[in-house]
Amino acid sequence: MSAPPVSHAVLCRFGELFLKGGNRGIFEQTLAKNIRRAVADVPGARVETPHGRVIVHAPADRIEDACARLERVFGLVSISSVVETAADVEAIEAAAVTAALAAIERDPARGASFRVQARRSDKRFPLSSLDLAARVGAKVAAATGMPVKLVGAALTIGIEVSSTSGFVFADTRAAPGGLPAGTSGHGLLLLSGGIDSPVAGWLSAKRGLSLDGLYFHSPPFVGEKSKDKVVSLARVLASWQALRTLYVAPFTDVQKRLRDAGPAELAVVLYRRMMMRIADRIADRTRAMSLVTGENLGQVASQTVPNLTTIENAARHLVLRPLVTYDKMETTALARRIGTYDISALPYEDCCSLFVPPHPATAARVQDAERAEARLEAGVDAEADAVADATEKIDLT
Ligand code: ATP
Ligand code: MG
Repeated sequence: MSAPPVSHAVLCRFGELFLKGGNRGIFEQTLAKNIRRAVADVPGARVETPHGRVIVHAPADRIEDACARLERVFGLVSISSVVETAADVEAIEAAAVTAALAAIERDPARGASFRVQARRSDKRFPLSSLDLAARVGAKVAAATGMPVKLVGAALTIGIEVSSTSGFVFADTRAAPGGLPAGTSGHGLLLLSGGIDSPVAGWLSAKRGLSLDGLYFHSPPFVGEKSKDKVVSLARVLASWQALRTLYVAPFTDVQKRLRDAGPAELAVVLYRRMMMRIADRIADRTRAMSLVTGENLGQVASQTVPNLTTIENAARHLVLRPLVTYDKMETTALARRIGTYDISALPYEDCCSLFVPPHPATAARVQDAERAEARLEAGVDAEADAVADATEKIDLT
């Protein structure tokens, strides 16, 4: 009757990029690069970028692997597993019938009703979109016995026609949207084992930041399990291309000296200010232009506006706090979606709760912090330099 399907592929759709006017080329190139990286370990996968779309070709039995990775690429709004045919009505009809039968076999409920949605990017195609949908619809109805239902159909067969190909699909899956990671520059995520900072990293990667992570480790007060946990969180973020490298900074010694230098109520603020100084140094070395934290307004005593002001005062880089307005429930829901929640929920020790009284200061002042820091024999800068120099690097890719 007609030519067999040419090949299997994943059709990738992007949305927000269209808003970017003159920068569009850079965004599309970064997106294509990120997509290539995402499917690099899928055998036989090949990425093509014919005008305004991205198509990932793969052997039929690798399409699901490719989809699982593409669902995690920022900048994509949705993906569809497609059959690519010639730009030929009969080939498209045959592929649509096959796709409909396969969809019903996977889920019989979808056999209740159907519709066909067609789009042409090449207006030289001999049929209008509506005429193509009607012709394909008639063939699918004849082959399956399904009734057509234009609104609320159980199954939608999608068709997109370009100058060289037809793409036929029965499913569309959501992708995270946002901007391709890297298009907003590079940042450094302060990553702890808690629920918040992984989500903060994910949200900033979704706005186009590429990130490295920095974890402050305080053995033996904090066990190796806590570090393993942060490494696991980092790997989940890496699967979203939201993290490249994890830096682990040995924080124990400076933390003890800070504890001894100031009043216990100030301890958390002093630890955090030192974290900022060390993060600044790692950011300089990794060319990060901002620091990202999971801080949130008013969630805990250390996160009041006065305390955040005093903490930020120690940082040279812009501090981004994507969760500043989030409810814990919103953050938790997102952590589940990202896949970090179950790891974050494992028991772990938080280095900032070490040596801290039940009622830490809620309005620490910069001058009080500086007075305590002046008691450090080596001075804050030498202390921060020493930790930055001793920081370990873990490659996540
Ligand atoms: P999280 O759930 O991310 O730990 P939190 O709400 O528990 O956040 P805090 O523990 O007060 O808040 O930490 C605030 C932020 O400081 C964290 O989100 C993280 O960005 C950073 N931070 C805290 N402890 C560490 C650490 N040991 N290593 C790296 N960053 C840290
Ligand atoms: Mg925490």
